[in-house]
Amino acid sequence: MSTTNKKKSVLIIGGGTWGCSIALELARNGYSDVTVLDGEDIPSSIAAGNDLNKIMEEGKRFHAIFVVSVRGACGLSRDTNDINLGSQSEDDTDAAYAWNRLHDLCTTAWLNDPIYKPHYHRTGYVMAASSDAAYEALLGDIRGHEDEYQKVESAEQFRKAMPEGVLTGDFVGWRGFAKPSGAGWVFARGAIISAKDEAEELGVRFITGQQGLVTELLFSDETKPGEIGSAPKQGALRGVKAADGTIHRAHMTILANGANADELIDLKYQLRPTAWTLAQIRMTSEEAELYKDLPVLFNIEKGFFMEPSAETHELKICDEHPGYINPIYEERSEDSSPGQPKSERIIGSKPFARQQVPLESEERVRAFLMETMPHLAARPFSFARICWDADTVDRMPLIDWYRLNGNASTESRLLLAIGGSGHCFKTMPAMGQVVLEFLEGKVDDRTRRAFRWRPETAVNRNWWDVQGRWGAQGEVMDFNDVRGWTRIGES
Ligand SMILES: Cc1cc2nc3c(=O)[nH]c(=O)nc-3n(C[C@H](O)[C@H](O)[C@H](O)COP(=O)(O)OP(=O)(O)OC[C@H]3O[C@@H](n4cnc5c(N)ncnc54)[C@H](O)[C@@H]3O)c2cc1C
Repeated sequence: MSTTNKKKSVLIIGGGTWGCSIALELARNGYSDVTVLDGEDIPSSIAAGNDLNKIMEEGKRFHAIFVVSVRGACGLSRDTNDINLGSQSEDDTDAAYAWNRLHDLCTTAWLNDPIYKPHYHRTGYVMAASSDAAYEALLGDIRGHEDEYQKVESAEQFRKAMPEGVLTGDFVGWRGFAKPSGAGWVFARGAIISAKDEAEELGVRFITGQQGLVTELLFSDETKPGEIGSAPKQGALRGVKAADGTIHRAHMTILANGANADELIDLKYQLRPTAWTLAQIRMTSEEAELYKDLPVLFNIEKGFFMEPSAETHELKICDEHPGYINPIYEERSEDSSPGQPKSERIIGSKPFARQQVPLESEERVRAFLMETMPHLAARPFSFARICWDADTVDRMPLIDWYRLNGNASTESRLLLAIGGSGHCFKTMPAMGQVVLEFLEGKVDDRTRRAFRWRPETAVNRNWWDVQGRWGAQGEVMDFNDVRGWTRIGES
């Protein structure tokens, strides 16, 4: 805070991946009046981070054009023109510098911080592609690091990447690389709970349920006496209203509610809520034993899985695709007249919660299993859900002060910390550190520029942009076109 008065109150909206990291970091740095608001008990059922596992890759030096390494929910980023990822050197673009720095910070934490370290499993990974184009993308992703990877090019080599009996498929057309160290997966839900518990221990208050579900941001009206008739200008944030009517007030507020952020504030199309799909199957104790300590297997066109959870023996599978949106169309007066065409202009995407997945997603998961582990392909799903994250146009986080009438200013009292863009679970421990730098005015210029408020990138945004992702039909999908959903748990 331009104020580094650590006694001043801070409110965090959203106790998910970033919210818990931010809360922990503030508490660790002596902030004594921090409150986190969330609509649900933490970890919330809608949090992107409330998941069995997420892929983690250590601070790899990107030397070339890809923003995202293996995981993009995710895929490889297309937005590469101004990105010359190399290292944290003077030659890097701002985006490359900031992204590499996030990777360095989070790698250090996953390897050393007692809160995060127990959740990181350094099992390595095998990444693969099926088409020539996707394989070329993989090659680009590892360029300059070839010595860290081993080629995996035949069905037998894929099967041998894991203990006998795990991979039983034919792997027709698969090619890829194994990275035995410097990567793996994190127990995502566990990391959120650990960060939350530690933050609470250090004095952070968590308010959940209707009292924590924020429905409105209350700005003061800055119109001065004598300006009657002129349009009111927006002033500083003076409070936030919760679903039960409670008004929470604080000196500074941090908006960290992920895919739901633009329901509270006009973000000028900078966020596109995008959903992916995951399904789980239950393993027996014997199977879970066999599947322990597996490397991640990720085909960037088909899907991925990691070992089953130690607690419940659930194996999570994600089918890989560019994502689903739930488009919001601009309203036009003729929309109300029957028979008139609706406006085709999309102005957003509205998240909704569902603990089922489209039937086409189930088909993709089962096709992925048929190619990799056909012995599991017919097993019923024990759980599935759609899972929303928020895509910025360039897939960089958006961390900046909210603009008051066009100007970024701490005077707005509202700091944005959003835009996970399908690949920011791994950065969890770093987000708290970087947000703290913004709050205290200590962030370096390059990080500030890379994560800045940037509506110019979203003018005439293409809501159907695959943003470098592969899989399914190679298109962002519309939930309105879904022909049916799984019915897990329904008799
Ligand atoms: C299927 C899938 C797979 C992924 N895989 C990977 C991966 O392998 N590796 C990786 O690094 N990243 C991965 N990601 C991306 C990663 O999960 C996200 O980038 C990250 O979790 C985003 O964190 P967040 O804090 O912004 O949002 P969330 O974790 O979603 O947290 C948002 C929180 O805000 C709360 N909230 C929402 N609205 C309100 C409100 N009005 N009032 C109060 N609280 C509110 C929610 O309840 C939630 O707790 C994946 C994402 C998906 C969807």
